Amino acid sequence: MKRLDPAGGASARLTLAQAQAAGFPVGAENLAVDLADTLARVTTSPVDLLRDQAASDRFWELHAGELPVGWAFPPLAETRRLRDVIRSLLDAAQQGMPLDERAVHELNAFALAASASAQLTVQGAQVARTERWRYARPAHLALAAAAFSAIDTLGDPAIRSNLRQCARPLCTMLFFRGDRRRRWCTPNTCGNRDRVARHYRRRHPRPT
Ligand SMILES: [Zn+2]
Repeated sequence: MKRLDPAGGASARLTLAQAQAAGFPVGAENLAVDLADTLARVTTSPVDLLRDQAASDRFWELHAGELPVGWAFPPLAETRRLRDVIRSLLDAAQQGMPLDERAVHELNAFALAASASAQLTVQGAQVARTERWRYARPAHLALAAAAFSAIDTLGDPAIRSNLRQCARPLCTMLFFRGDRRRRWCTPNTCGNRDRVARHYRRRHPRPT
């Protein structure tokens, strides 16, 4: 059973342009990686893109197409907590390090807060597979969906091994390498800066 499909299932997939327009430089990877990338460490000190409740709500709104019907905005502190847990686990996986047991336990607790059962819905001649979700608070639906996404990412060796960190020095954004063997988190931010820097070095070689 694929638990991540929203019951509606009609929403178009998020694009990078939509994510960037909403203030998130990296987006359209998957829900877990996009959430991890809300801690932007492109400079020496990390920048929290979830700076307030409104920014957090914007993140969830962007990903509404990946959330179960009936979800509600989680409080900022809970979104940040889950983000930090996912970030630490994805970082460790990407670096080939062992996963922290306490972080795994916390991730699983977020996932346990909501669960779905498959249901058969009949309306006249139309028969469809739908899902019925169980949860204590609607906000748990959003958090659990992100936790499921992280579990799907970490639990599948093929998906996990495709995870990369941006090739630009100091940028720690994560993304999926994909077929194009991409090196940068985004072509229009780090890709551009890296190309400009290499061009500059070619034009201005250091004296030896
Ligand atoms: Zn980058």
